[in-house]
Amino acid sequence: MTLPPRFGYAAPRSLDEAVRVLQARGDEAKVLAGGQSMIPLLKLRVGAPALLVDIQKLPGLDYVEESGGFLRVGALTRVAALCRSDLVRRKYQALHDASLTVADPLVRNLGTVGGNLCHGDPANDLPAVMLAMGGELVATGPAGARTVRADGFFVDTFTTALARDEILTEARVPSPPPRSGGVYLKVEQKVADFATAAAAVQVTLDRGSGCAYVGIGLAGVGATAIKAKKAEEAMAGREPTDRKAVAEAAGLAAEASSPVSDIRGTAEYKKRLVRLLVARGLEKAGERARRGAR
Ligand SMILES: Cc1cc2nc3c(=O)[nH]c(=O)nc-3n(C[C@H](O)[C@H](O)[C@H](O)COP(=O)(O)OP(=O)(O)OC[C@H]3O[C@@H](n4cnc5c(N)ncnc54)[C@H](O)[C@@H]3O)c2cc1C
Repeated sequence: MTLPPRFGYAAPRSLDEAVRVLQARGDEAKVLAGGQSMIPLLKLRVGAPALLVDIQKLPGLDYVEESGGFLRVGALTRVAALCRSDLVRRKYQALHDASLTVADPLVRNLGTVGGNLCHGDPANDLPAVMLAMGGELVATGPAGARTVRADGFFVDTFTTALARDEILTEARVPSPPPRSGGVYLKVEQKVADFATAAAAVQVTLDRGSGCAYVGIGLAGVGATAIKAKKAEEAMAGREPTDRKAVAEAAGLAAEASSPVSDIRGTAEYKKRLVRLLVARGLEKAGERARRGAR
């Protein structure tokens, strides 16, 4: 890595001011949060924004709280805060599992939840959880705040639904009802690596043991994080202990993935991982849902 190219720097103290700067500078400006993706990219000279708008001093964007039927996470919340949150560990297990697998403690202490989602890296861990849990993203721009569903947010590799002059202010997921459980399973080549393949699975059981809700998100196996919709549908009303149903859904999830062969493995290997991770994920999420039955 080399030194980053020369850039201007702004550190606005309010959200309004940050949005105004982004609006005024258009394509020249880029948001800087924890810098864990941005700084390496600059050092690699991938892009050379004329201005970095450092949002780390914006007030009120660092929180993890439950209200109005959602777990709400401020965009400037560090990934490490999710790891430490007792609420997240107890009720939002897929998010907790995933946050523990993001890189290493150094990156987790600096990297923000907003940055992890806005970077649009298909190998990042948190987007798959947002897809599995039916999450929403709140974007604030010159016209105010708007809400984007997670399944419309990850548009392409390194591209999200955010406009140039919008800042992600909150990520939120619905609070799971009783008889819910989630899990995030990731295969990585070495500790703290990006996913070779990973799956987030969220399940809510009905009064019997069938699935009333199934959400499945995949990481590292396509141009974006992937919502495996057909696999989710295949599990509707069926039990996560039903091996035939699980095998069918896992196969459909593998079909929904489109990995490429690279240093982490062949495309075929990664598809097989998806099949395995989704099958194990459905079983584990089902188990957690039964255990957590209230
Ligand atoms: C060694 C290493 C290993 C890593 N391993 C993993 C891993 O295993 N799993 C994983 O998920 N990630 C991994 N990462 C990536 C890391 O988690 C992300 O870089 C980090 O989460 C991004 O957050 P940030 O706050 O650092 O964002 P930044 O790097 O500051 O920004 C990233 C991008 O998001 C945009 N952005 C940031 N915040 C906002 C916002 N609120 N509104 C609008 N745009 C915004 C920026 O403009 C930029 O384009 C790794 C990174 C490193 C350096």
